[in-house]
Amino acid sequence: MAKTKTWKLWDNDTVNEEESKLLRRTADVVPIPLDESSKRDMKILIDSFLARDDALGLAAPQIGISKKMVVFKNKHLDERGFIKNDKDYDLLINPRITQCRGDSETSTEGCLSCPDISVEVARYSEIKVKAYDKEGNKINKRYTGFLARIVQHELDHLDGKLIIDRGGSIYVPKEKQGFFKKLFEND
Ligand SMILES: [Zn+2]
Repeated sequence: MAKTKTWKLWDNDTVNEEESKLLRRTADVVPIPLDESSKRDMKILIDSFLARDDALGLAAPQIGISKKMVVFKNKHLDERGFIKNDKDYDLLINPRITQCRGDSETSTEGCLSCPDISVEVARYSEIKVKAYDKEGNKINKRYTGFLARIVQHELDHLDGKLIIDRGGSIYVPKEKQGFFKKLFEND
């Protein structure tokens, strides 16, 4: 299984202009019924997700595919979420949150596309989602707790929104404070 390169806003102390552009754009709606190119992209997304053990979820823009597709672990999740079974994932195409319920809870999140930092982000504790599955069938899903957080994080990617856009406190490692100070001040 190929592990595809992850697109990042920055890498070490360099801002990635080209990658940022794609990560920041609203991803394209996937045509239903699924066409060949979407099926191919879906397979690349799933394969690269399963090939890594450092991600709870992956959105297509994070591997350079600007289409509305996300994949994430859906079972056996504890607070760390690192228990892994290759079958235990959901793939959502053109997902749309139709209902947010429960309290909004704040917790720190990291993101492969925003390396080295973590950010406090408020998310709803329960969401309902309408989407299409791998075969292009309409599905309705309900997610709660930690899983609801993961899904909201991944869906943000499809709108070109990243954790640093959520307005929460940003934690940066001490040795990189210079770089990030400049970066976030220029925003
Ligand atoms: Zn992310």
